Amino acid sequence: MKVKNVELSFSTSKDFEILDITDEVSSAVKYTEVKEGLCLVFSLHTTTALVINEREPGLLDDFRQASSKLFPKGAGWRHDLIDTNAHAHLASTFMGNFQVIPITNGSLLLGTWQRLLLVELDGPRRRRVIVTAIGE
Ligand code: ZN
Repeated sequence: MKVKNVELSFSTSKDFEILDITDEVSSAVKYTEVKEGLCLVFSLHTTTALVINEREPGLLDDFRQASSKLFPKGAGWRHDLIDTNAHAHLASTFMGNFQVIPITNGSLLLGTWQRLLLVELDGPRRRRVIVTAIGE
């Protein structure tokens, strides 16, 4: 069994943005040469999220609206007393900052409409994502 890490980085350009990072993560998995196993994708940040879902433009806008309805900016959050991004930390926590995807035949095993999405919640920033492939 082998364990290989690859670090990826992404630049975001907006306060809230959803980047489809499926292709970059797929390339990283190929680079590791793990053919059968698991791929952990882990964000090194407290104000991003990693989700698996459909990349339909209306739905991506719905994610933004849902996030801002559930965690409105400046809604009296205590963390805003020392920073201005409590809404982003909260949304990150509820969406989650990692995903685990099966690897088979050297590729990510995803459903037809499934894409791996990096959700920027407090951009624009440079973001680091670790891809850990575990298997043989
Ligand atoms: Zn903060």
